[in-house]
Amino acid sequence: MQNALYMNDSYLKEFEATVESVKDDKYVILNRTSFYPAGGGQPNDTGIMISDGDEYPVVYVGKFEGKISHEVSKPGLKAGDKVTGKIDWDRRYRHMRMHTAAHIIDAVLYNEAGALCTGNQLGTDKSRIDFSLDVLNKDKIQQYIGIANEWVKKAIDVNIYSLPREEALKIPGIVKLAGAMPPEVTELRIVEIPGIDIQADGGTQVKNTSEIGEISLVSVENKGKNNRRMYYTID
Ligand SMILES: [Zn+2]
Repeated sequence: MQNALYMNDSYLKEFEATVESVKDDKYVILNRTSFYPAGGGQPNDTGIMISDGDEYPVVYVGKFEGKISHEVSKPGLKAGDKVTGKIDWDRRYRHMRMHTAAHIIDAVLYNEAGALCTGNQLGTDKSRIDFSLDVLNKDKIQQYIGIANEWVKKAIDVNIYSLPREEALKIPGIVKLAGAMPPEVTELRIVEIPGIDIQADGGTQVKNTSEIGEISLVSVENKGKNNRRMYYTID
């Protein structure tokens, strides 16, 4: 994959790049990018590309055949053009805060109730976590959110680093996810919130849990024993 700058620096809001190719006058591939492509439960970034004084709104970013493709709503960019990319930071930063919050909530659900996360979808306004749990009790879930907020308030630095695949697979808790990674991936990106969670992850995260702010429960839905669902938001 081309240089995905957000993997090393979630806080990079602006970057310089060169256009590698443009398809149908709207699907732009750059040699490097800070735009996060939709995936792993995290929505895509939006923003703009500027080239030669012209602004090209970036309306969608996805990963196709291993390449990050930016859909722009204005034609005109061509291979070889130099661009400045600027991501919509308000939107991205909420996703970062929501994402790190999801890791903490997942860990609390597991530690307190043995609940396994079966899916999640982050959003700007609210985010969804699906999990399996024998007995669903809204008061309990509310209590778990309280515990998650205690972790948030501890102001823990989030560590991001890479580990050789074999070494990463030995860490309890990330095995399931890491095992699902394609065999050609030899280095795994690890996101560790010391004391509460460690997992292989390709998303953007805050540097310190205090940045999350206050997590609150929006709603709980019962979609069957192995399919409980909760929505949460952040202030
Ligand atoms: Zn994650």
